[in-house]
Amino acid sequence: MVHDAVIVGTGFGGMGAAIALRRLGFDDLVMLEREDDLGGTWNVNRYPGLAVDIPSATYSYSFEPNPYWSRLYAPGAELKAYCDHVATTYDLRRHMRFGVNATGATWDEQAKVWTVDVEDGDPVQGRFLLTATGFLSQPRLPDIEGIDSFAGTVLHTTQWDDDVALEGRRAAVIGTGATAVQLIPEIAPRLAELTVFQRTAIWVTPKSDAAVPERLQRLYARVPLTQRVARNAGSAVLEAIMVSGVLRYRQLGEARSDLG
Ligand SMILES: Cc1cc2nc3c(=O)[nH]c(=O)nc-3n(C[C@H](O)[C@H](O)[C@H](O)COP(=O)(O)OP(=O)(O)OC[C@H]3O[C@@H](n4cnc5c(N)ncnc54)[C@H](O)[C@@H]3O)c2cc1C
Repeated sequence: MVHDAVIVGTGFGGMGAAIALRRLGFDDLVMLEREDDLGGTWNVNRYPGLAVDIPSATYSYSFEPNPYWSRLYAPGAELKAYCDHVATTYDLRRHMRFGVNATGATWDEQAKVWTVDVEDGDPVQGRFLLTATGFLSQPRLPDIEGIDSFAGTVLHTTQWDDDVALEGRRAAVIGTGATAVQLIPEIAPRLAELTVFQRTAIWVTPKSDAAVPERLQRLYARVPLTQRVARNAGSAVLEAIMVSGVLRYRQLGEARSDLG
């Protein structure tokens, strides 16, 4: 059977694509997901301190605002709940097949059909193929000699295990990217000793996070235009910061290469 489209991934990208396709009149969709639940990034990541780094009014679908974000930068669990809400509201679950790992795809030019191969199952065919597999969904342990035989516990943040007791123990965090910045303040007070390994210094600015007062949440719910204004204002500031940051970084890079 040839479906209208095959979408690989059920994160923000895959669900957004499915909603857009449905609006265009394509209803026969198959969404393949190797995990056993939807949400992508916000499904697999459950480590302490997980939250968005982009204000939540902006980090959400423009057509499905959530007036009830508890904080300016919502915690990860709220993002997962939002993904579930979107899937229910737009009736996406009926398209989803969980525990299905797509391993490859081929295009038949004559038949104009994509055939997507899956692990341990029959191939799936569609007129369109959309890969929404994310760029941060593949956990990778660093190639550190001896890591396989390390006697202690090794935890990757995408496979966080709350049953591992941290209290009073000695631990090391490898890396100081956005995830480490969220994780370290949460676990440090629980540990007896924490060592952080940083290969490359990063730029860090204070996160001006705050709870969204319930009164404001109610206003957003009653008058959605107010949240749209907040979103647009926040997005404009964010774009300006990003663009100026990228330009400055490029200039610094060019200056360094001029120095040889
Ligand atoms: C901890 C963390 C925090 C982040 N915070 C922010 C933030 O604050 N702001 C921001 O803009 N971005 C943030 N990001 C980036 C985030 O990944 C994107 O914002 C967004 O969630 C990506 O959505 P996606 O649907 O493209 O990919 P994902 O959410 O990664 O979803 C991809 C899905 O595809 C599935 N998949 C992959 N390969 C296959 C396959 N072969 N077969 C079947 N299924 C497959 C995966 O299991 C996954 O469910 C963060 C990322 C991480 C990891």
